[in-house]
Amino acid sequence: MNLDNLYKTLANQPKYRVQQVKEAIFGKLIADWSEASNLPKELKETLNKECPLEIKGKFFSSEETEASKALITLSDGLQIETVLLAHKDGRFTVCVSTQVGCPLGCKFCATGKMGLLRNLEYGEMIDQVLFFSRYLKDENTRVSNVVFMGMGEPFLNYDNVIKAIKYLNEDLKIGARKISISTSGVIPGIKRLADEDLQLNLAISLHAPNDKLRSELMPINKGFPLTKLLPAVDAYIRKTGRQVMFEYLLIRGVNDQPQHAAELAELMKKPLYIVNLISYNPTDAFKASRSIDVRKFKEILERQGIVVTQRYSFGQDINAACGQLATKSKKAKN
Ligand code: SAH
Ligand code: SF4
Repeated sequence: MNLDNLYKTLANQPKYRVQQVKEAIFGKLIADWSEASNLPKELKETLNKECPLEIKGKFFSSEETEASKALITLSDGLQIETVLLAHKDGRFTVCVSTQVGCPLGCKFCATGKMGLLRNLEYGEMIDQVLFFSRYLKDENTRVSNVVFMGMGEPFLNYDNVIKAIKYLNEDLKIGARKISISTSGVIPGIKRLADEDLQLNLAISLHAPNDKLRSELMPINKGFPLTKLLPAVDAYIRKTGRQVMFEYLLIRGVNDQPQHAAELAELMKKPLYIVNLISYNPTDAFKASRSIDVRKFKEILERQGIVVTQRYSFGQDINAACGQLATKSKKAKN
């Protein structure tokens, strides 16, 4: 959806139109302007041309049933993936992509292998949530949470992410506390977010307890090493008073041994730090940790008083799980 075009089209209209139109898109969740019964016919026709509401999405549902994936085709033909997670307690989380591909090339991540094709516009992020909102409307329920954890690095597309979040807050009524951003550690983004005065949840993809291993797995660590990243997180916590979640993927034989856990515990001994252990969704490169290693790893952290949560993967059968998001969109050859 091109919201900039929408506002341009409404510029000569009476003021109350903006509210009316927003109510139709985000409240009634219309998928076509013909459904906006309170708008004049001529305006509907112009809007159909300037800001079509159709979202070209193909729906894949997982046999495990908790995860569904949509493959969305953008106006320029590129494709992105977005995921809906249904939780047992009735919440529905949409996992939003922020870029087509990702330039950061983490070794364990399928999206990283694609490279960056382009940033998404804020309207394209909102569309991912709207796509599932329209679907859930038919089931009489709604999207309750949004995580910016799909394809791409949110803080390399900062302005569009924040703009999208404002719409999710104000128009789709998804509170900031229900929204999380995950970053691989782009420090300027962490600093900017600290100044936003938004009650968002921040997650840091850590995945290694020292610079040597982290730089091997995540090339971004060479520019933003732990010695700079963790002080930036501390400054964020001082400013916002909010807890920060450190995501740690458990990869067999790579970062899941007792010495890694002990090293991680030393880094994480701070108030408002939480560790989230994530099961690795296998790609060509690595395997998931053995369950005995996961258990030992968790115990070592807990013995040191670290708050640890665990995320199990879902949607592996449709490649909807974290880090498995990759589309066939290819870089255009010049
Ligand atoms: N670029 C951001 C957000 C998108 S990645 C970031 O890196 O934080 C979302 C999450 O999925 C990150 O924590 C990422 O490290 C994790 N991830 C990547 N590959 C994965 C895999 N194969 N299995 C499970 N999680 C993975
Ligand atoms: Fe990019 Fe995140 Fe994947 Fe790393 S893990 S390549 S930052 S999407």
